[in-house]
Amino acid sequence: MRCLICQKTFYFKRTLKNLFDLQEDLICDKCKKEISINIKVQIIPLDNRKLINFYFFDQKMFYDLDLFSNEMYQLIDTINKIKENNIILLYDFFKLTENVLKEMEKVATLTDEIVYVISYFA
Ligand SMILES: [Zn+2]
Repeated sequence: MRCLICQKTFYFKRTLKNLFDLQEDLICDKCKKEISINIKVQIIPLDNRKLINFYFFDQKMFYDLDLFSNEMYQLIDTINKIKENNIILLYDFFKLTENVLKEMEKVATLTDEIVYVISYFA
């Protein structure tokens, strides 16, 4: 397989136990070690509710962000385990500006819920 970050070819060992398993890793072991995902949290008070922003990286990354979709879905699952039917907004890049804050306050007022935002970088 070709690593989607470093573009080098890598292999994984097949045994009888894993012969028919689907290989879902698209990143080589070396890149996996270099890219550690520490999900960060920002809690922003709104008028009567709050916005919770989870983000993966502090700066823009120059590889395909879909590589981290598994982590994204795990985070959505975790949020939904706390309480079902949450408002979860997904962004590649989320920067809190005055206009964005106004829009988020509208969403929180309309839904009367905590607004969760998940973004790759903030
Ligand atoms: Zn690699």
